[in-house]
Amino acid sequence: MNNTEVVLFWFKRDLRLTDNRGLYKALSSGFRVLPVFIFDTHILDKLEKDDARITFICEVLGSINRSLRQNGSSLITFHGTPEHFFSEMPLPFPVNAVYASTDYEPYAFERDTKIGNILRSKGMHLHLIPDQMIMEPGTVMKQDGKPYTVFTPFSRRWSSLFRAGMIKEEPSVNLFGNLLQYSPLSAEPKPETLGFMTSGLKVKPADLTSDTIKSYGDNRDIPAADGTTKLGPHLRFGTISIREVFRQTEGLSNIFNSELIWREFFMHILSHFPQASEKSFRPEYDNIEWINNEEHFDRWCRGMTGYPIVDAGMRELKATGYMHNRVRMVTASFLAKHLLCDWRWGEAWFGSKLLDFELSSNNGNWQWAAGTGCDAAPWFRIFNPAIQKQKFDRNEEYIRSWLPDYGTPDYPEPVVNHTKARTRALETYGRVLRKS
Ligand code: FAD
Repeated sequence: MNNTEVVLFWFKRDLRLTDNRGLYKALSSGFRVLPVFIFDTHILDKLEKDDARITFICEVLGSINRSLRQNGSSLITFHGTPEHFFSEMPLPFPVNAVYASTDYEPYAFERDTKIGNILRSKGMHLHLIPDQMIMEPGTVMKQDGKPYTVFTPFSRRWSSLFRAGMIKEEPSVNLFGNLLQYSPLSAEPKPETLGFMTSGLKVKPADLTSDTIKSYGDNRDIPAADGTTKLGPHLRFGTISIREVFRQTEGLSNIFNSELIWREFFMHILSHFPQASEKSFRPEYDNIEWINNEEHFDRWCRGMTGYPIVDAGMRELKATGYMHNRVRMVTASFLAKHLLCDWRWGEAWFGSKLLDFELSSNNGNWQWAAGTGCDAAPWFRIFNPAIQKQKFDRNEEYIRSWLPDYGTPDYPEPVVNHTKARTRALETYGRVLRKS
């Protein structure tokens, strides 16, 4: 063990000590490890001051710090830009190298490239370790070497490449003896010290019980049933390892497994086609003449469209930071098709409110619902909110739990007439496709 220099483990979206591949590699490097977390102002500056995700991150980091302290170590936190932190390295130890997990989002990729260059100029290496997915972008490709853009063949190929060894645990905790023994007195991070407020919205614990997973296929489409896992925020922030999710649920539900593969599919898509984060995946759809009526958009955001299943979803989102997947599909389709508002407006609204906001899944699913994406729902398929309510919330249990004004004179009239809005959407989309 080299005792004169340390290596840093840079926590990013892998906020856990167990089964953390990057941390394991750092702890196996032959150097003492000092864990760090950077509250990146490039990201923080764009958030609302009551953003619940900041509260969650502070709580998780507090818990990581307490565990590290029990092992004689601690988590160093820094509030500023990663460029500043790694240029200055304000630490009382010489640093040999930095370890971190790979991240494929466009901003993260650019940031990590910059940090790699900064470190290289100081004679250090940034080791990026895959941890976020079972199969990294570039490993599930078509015969001709191109990326898949349709889910079903991607999923088939993914499954054919899957090996049990890919989900084995990385026993990071077994190597805690290699942590640097360093616990300076420091306050635990709090939203207030970062310029935020502590939020009352809470991340729910993930439910991976075998009962939930076995009945997932039957329950997952019913918004009133508590039938899904609430894994979203945990996978987003890495408070659970994706390998552990596979280990715990192996063989219990193919449908559930398939949802996890959808997650990887969209991550691969965004990594191969980063331009999709700003533009329609199919360029011809960037010519759609959106109406972009701000009053309609505002009614959609506030859950005041007069379509109960849409309004219930939008109010659930605002009140809890969650929205059921079925309802996400209906609300997204309603905004893009019924209201002809640019799907990017809705994507951004979801991005600011969802506790499980994941750029790749949010963008991929929004483009799917708007009909502009890879493997999208055909443009002429327009969800009818009344039929969706009838099919998935027949007893109105879900909508009544979110709409106290439903059935009273206070509940708004429909913002648009379904039949007319449907015809208008078909004409608008049709015009673009006829021209292309
Ligand atoms: P479960 O149903 O229990 O599924 C387990 C996990 O599988 C999820 O946590 C997620 O990681 C993955 N998963 C499930 N469905 C999908 C899917 N369709 N696409 C990709 N991954 C999936 N999911 C996000 O994680 N972040 C987002 O920002 C996001 N935005 C969405 C926007 C729209 C318009 C739509 C239609 C869907 C979006 N989804 C998003 C997908 C899905 O709605 C959520 O993953 C799911 O509702 C989260 O609840 P859960 O954790 O209980 O999921």
